[in-house]
Parts: sequence; structure tokens; C-alpha cells
Amino acid sequence: THQIERKPEWLKIKLTTGDNYKELKNMMRGKTLHTVCEEAKCPNIHECWAARTATFMILGDICTRACRFCAVNTGMPTELDLQEPERVAEASEQMGLRHVVVTSVARDDLKDGGASVFAATIRAIRGRLPLAGVEVLIPDFQGDEEALRTVLEAKPDILNHNVETVERLSDKVRAKAKYRRSLELLERSKRIAPSIPTKSSIMLGVGETWDEILQTMDDLRAVDCSIMTIGQYLQPSLKHLPVSKYYTPEQFAELKQEGLKRGFSHVESGPLVRSSYHAHEQVQSAKQS
Ligand code: SF4
Ligand code: SF4
Repeated sequence: THQIERKPEWLKIKLTTGDNYKELKNMMRGKTLHTVCEEAKCPNIHECWAARTATFMILGDICTRACRFCAVNTGMPTELDLQEPERVAEASEQMGLRHVVVTSVARDDLKDGGASVFAATIRAIRGRLPLAGVEVLIPDFQGDEEALRTVLEAKPDILNHNVETVERLSDKVRAKAKYRRSLELLERSKRIAPSIPTKSSIMLGVGETWDEILQTMDDLRAVDCSIMTIGQYLQPSLKHLPVSKYYTPEQFAELKQEGLKRGFSHVESGPLVRSSYHAHEQVQSAKQS
């Protein structure tokens, strides 16, 4: 399509087909589990899976929200699957993962937003893979502090929650979330569990200005967020928010320097960077700092 032809050169992906990747792909087939890697057709899947990093999506694949950049289906969510934490742990073990990222759709229909299932999943993974890093990328739980506490009590290695975009565009890009509420979640997390590093991501190309990106960095540092990822937004379909701009690899590199200057312990910044990209290395640097 025209859409794809207009993409700049640096967004075209070189596919490597390592044995690791093929092996994992076969293993996932037939399992009733969802990985973001596959569902979001993440461009990094070969690299990540070869490096034994994967992102599982728990709590079903139907979201109660409908953010304008997101390809996940919206509607009435499915029944909770009580075996899910154990199955994620089992798959992680079979895949030999070194870094497991667990995320979910927003489940505003559940009393705790699914926090207890996040906690159970962290514990189940620890039970089978005591040496693997466990990162959770959580929804905002509608600002419920108890829900956040439930997740933190299970001691993830990284608590990740995305602001996704700059403050001015928040309402437009992710209608049911709030920029300040996301910052508050990150701040509370450091207050409740100071030793757990927090992480947040934004995607570029939805209409933000350069200064607004820098301001977002400052806002995240002000709540002691230590890991940041910055990637290019790509429109999943014509129904989704259009791309306002493609940033160059040089601009991403410059933003990485801006982030490091501001004191983040780790900044992943690049056109194809996604929230969990190189997540394993991020744990290392967070632990060293
Ligand atoms: Fe999966 Fe995240 Fe890697 Fe993409 S960046 S392949 S979603 S682990
Ligand atoms: Fe997608 Fe998350 Fe927004 Fe749901 S809350 S639509 S999964 S970005």
C-alpha cells in the first residue's frame, strides 16, 4: 500500500531467522496464550525472542478502553482465566526466557483492575524461573493505590507504566487515561517500593513538539522514573491516529543523550524501540545504578 511505501528507509526491517526464534515460534503455537510480540506484529520479534525476551498479555485480549493508537480489540472482556498465571510461567520456562515482561489490557470492569492476577503471575514465574527478570507493564488501575500495592508486594524487577505521549496530547491519544494520574502512579510506586526501578515510554509522531518531549522527560525524572523508552508511532490501520511525523535515527540518538543528561539510568530511543525492547539490558543498568 501507499502507507508502507512512504515509510522511511530506517523503518524497513531486516529479518533474521535465528534458530532460537523458530523454536520459540513453534512452541507458542497451540498455546492459549497471547504475546504482544505476535499480536502487535512487533518488528523486533526475531531479535527479542532470540535474546530470550518476550512480552505476555494477560487478562484476555479484549480491552475496556480504546486508545487511538492501539490495535488491541475493544469490547466486553472475557471471563477471567484463573490458570493463566501458571500457564504464563510454564511457557516462560519452556521458552527459557531470561526476561519476562507481563502486561495486560485495561480491565476497568474488574474491582482491582486485574492487579491480583499480575501479582499471581509474577509469583508463578519466580517459582519456575527464579533467575529471570520479571517486568510488569501495568495499566493505571484507575488510580487505585491498593491495586498498585498488590502488584508491588509481588516484587517485580521493574514497574513499568507508560505515559505514551506528552501531556497536551494525552486526552486525544488515550481518552480514558490521564497524564497526571500516570505520573502519580509512578511517584507512588517509588514511595511504596523505593528499590524497584520504574520505567515509562512514549511514542513519537502523534503531533508533539520537541520541547514537549523534553518536558515529558523532566516530568518523569521529577517522579524518580529511571528508565525511559522512546519509539516511533506507526499507524496500525487507517482507522487509527495518523502519523504526524517520522523522526530520524539521529533525532532519536539526540533524545537518548537528552535523557541521559537528565539522569535516567537507561534510555532506549530509536525508530523501532518498543516498551520492552532490550528490556533485559535495562534491568542490568537499573541494578547497577
Ligand atoms: Fe515482544 Fe517487546 Fe520485543 Fe516487541 S519489543 S518483540 S513486544 S518483547
Ligand atoms: Fe490498547 Fe492499553 Fe489503550 Fe487498551 S488501554 S486500548 S490495550 S493501549
